[in-house]
Amino acid sequence: MPANSKTLRSASALVEAQLIKPERVDALQNVASRYAVAITPALVDLIDTADPHDPIALQFVPDERELETRLEETADPIGDEAHSPVPGVVHRYPDRALLKLLNACAVYCRFCFRREMIGPGRGALTGSALAAALDYIARTPQIWEVILTGGDPLLLPPRRLKDVITRLAAIDHVKVIRLHTRIPVAAPERVTPALLRALRTGKATYMVLHANHPRELTGEARAACARVIDAGIPMLSQSVLLRGVNDDVETLGALMRALVECRIKPYYLHHADLAPGTAHLRTSIAQGQVLMRALHGRYSGLCQPHYVLDIPGGHGKSPIGPSYLSADGSQITDFKGARHAYPPRVGD
Ligand code: SF4
Repeated sequence: MPANSKTLRSASALVEAQLIKPERVDALQNVASRYAVAITPALVDLIDTADPHDPIALQFVPDERELETRLEETADPIGDEAHSPVPGVVHRYPDRALLKLLNACAVYCRFCFRREMIGPGRGALTGSALAAALDYIARTPQIWEVILTGGDPLLLPPRRLKDVITRLAAIDHVKVIRLHTRIPVAAPERVTPALLRALRTGKATYMVLHANHPRELTGEARAACARVIDAGIPMLSQSVLLRGVNDDVETLGALMRALVECRIKPYYLHHADLAPGTAHLRTSIAQGQVLMRALHGRYSGLCQPHYVLDIPGGHGKSPIGPSYLSADGSQITDFKGARHAYPPRVGD
């Protein structure tokens, strides 16, 4: 059980927990009134307060630099709004749609790409908005997969989640339901039998865990993931490449291995989005490609996520390499960095 029992939600609570120095309280209260703060007991317990560069603290403890917005940063960096036919639905790709049930999370990540839209009190879809969202999905037969995201859908009470999932599963052309969540690491105690029963629908249901550092996979988090997988729900992961958190191959490799050991297949490594006030946490794409090459050279194929960028403006995700094939297709680079002609020259 975590030693702390309450979620920290204000700069003064962070001072009390010794996560920030008292002299920063005013500045960080300004940040907290702009972008929501919440750090759950499970994550507070993981923070080493003696380490000024602690990778868990960097993800959740607010920073004065969040109030510095760069020209290229925008409130809706991945363009959800441009692809929202009805409130709560984002329909960007032909065969899948997002259903955003609520705008709250158990923890608020400092690099969140939806940070302008989420926070406590930002509400959930009303009954009539949910009916309109489900109606849109029901009359759009090309939607094969629905992704419940938010906010964090697992924050909903199991009964409400069950109602939504049952109604979704009743739509014949919806064959796959996917939930994006941080709950198993942020609040593993919420993965209860009632929650797991709520996810049982008869349709293929997947859970995608957001985790960025191997320390997040504590014993409790691993046990929560095992409960999900043992209930017949396969798990994938998504991580965000973050400066100072996981931008070295040892940490990234340890994260991917920890996920695979938990039977979670690494799916996406996101290049950090151009969300306002997050420049201090972003790497360059070139750095990300060097890391991906190193990961490929040293770790099992099971540990390889797709490195992707959400193209600003709502144009969707694209893999961003690195590429192992030369532009003309005549040379291929192996996992040690050596180049080979393709097809091999006769006599090679
Ligand atoms: S859990 Fe996801 S939606 Fe919630 S704050 Fe973190 S990145 Fe944003």
